[in-house]
Amino acid sequence: MGRYLESSCKLCRREGMKLMLKGAKCETAKCAIERREKSMAPGQHGWRRGKSSEYAVRLREKQKVKRYYGMLNSQFMRYVAEAASKPGNTGELLLVLLERRLDNVVYKLNWAPSRKAARQVIAHGHVHVNGRKVDIADFRVDIGDKLTLKKAEKSTKRVKEQLATNPNFQAQSWLQLNADKPEATIVAMPTRDDIQIPVEEQLVIEFCSK
Ligand code: SF4
Repeated sequence: MGRYLESSCKLCRREGMKLMLKGAKCETAKCAIERREKSMAPGQHGWRRGKSSEYAVRLREKQKVKRYYGMLNSQFMRYVAEAASKPGNTGELLLVLLERRLDNVVYKLNWAPSRKAARQVIAHGHVHVNGRKVDIADFRVDIGDKLTLKKAEKSTKRVKEQLATNPNFQAQSWLQLNADKPEATIVAMPTRDDIQIPVEEQLVIEFCSK
């Protein structure tokens, strides 16, 4: 599968917001968005932010969501098409489908410091769903699914170390986390309130429908 090779911070600077792509560094003063001089868009003329056209505003909203979940365009467009084929608010349906990706769930359980790191944990076969190894990052979780770790010291050690970085961590209400084992159950579908990215999803759909 293709992947971005550019600096993650550059993507945040382009979108003018924290996309939380680098784990612990994103919470520190080293974050490029926190450092004022670097928070401008990348490139020689990054400081020249004029009035954006309607097209540019919609494009940026789409790029924000795509980059937040760490996806390439073709993959992202498949999610848009699926959301559009279902009855209901397409923008919200799109975000819920993205939120149900296994890499996002592993990140939201604080089993990995970022979605990128979560994809690595999954690809290395550390995560099991309903007792079976799942090494596909875009596997879609459903209500009742139980996430456990491979029965190997390396798997549990890595996740427990990550959980120890935030002893007060509370998983969102659609995820039931047992941090001692560690294991988790999907107890509900995520709602729009659980999806923290500040984005106007309707503009994403408008951009993708053209
Ligand atoms: Fe984005 Fe994290 Fe880099 Fe900050 S540190 S710019 S949030 S990837």
